[in-house]
Amino acid sequence: MFEGSCLCGQVKYEVDCEPQPMGHCHCHTCRKAHSAAFSTVMSVPRAVFSWRQGEDQLSSYESSPGKKRFFCSGCGSQLIASREATDYVLIRVGSIDSVIKQRPKVHFWCSDGASWYDPEEELPILPKGVPD
Ligand SMILES: [Zn+2]
Ligand SMILES: [Zn+2]
Repeated sequence: MFEGSCLCGQVKYEVDCEPQPMGHCHCHTCRKAHSAAFSTVMSVPRAVFSWRQGEDQLSSYESSPGKKRFFCSGCGSQLIASREATDYVLIRVGSIDSVIKQRPKVHFWCSDGASWYDPEEELPILPKGVPD
């Protein structure tokens, strides 16, 4: 079991299974929706996903036909994406609060990737913000 929440804390969810494999999605719509180089995602069975709090605070955006991205109306955090016709939901891994031991296994949709980000490039790793 693991759980997650949005930035403002109004929306919380729970997933009643072990964490599943993760990957970094570089598709155009993930980049735009998250305003980021990529979105880390984890597919879980719909049957084990549940909203614990704040479901009435959710908004959604249909980013491609049948695919809705759900986010908190209060703070804008992207939480899951889902196609109604499928038995799975895509968790936005950045919203998970539980400790996850697994590591992402793949970068995908790199054909859509940001021109300024190269997953092969190693960067300095700082414990806090960039010093002045
Ligand atoms: Zn929120
Ligand atoms: Zn994507």
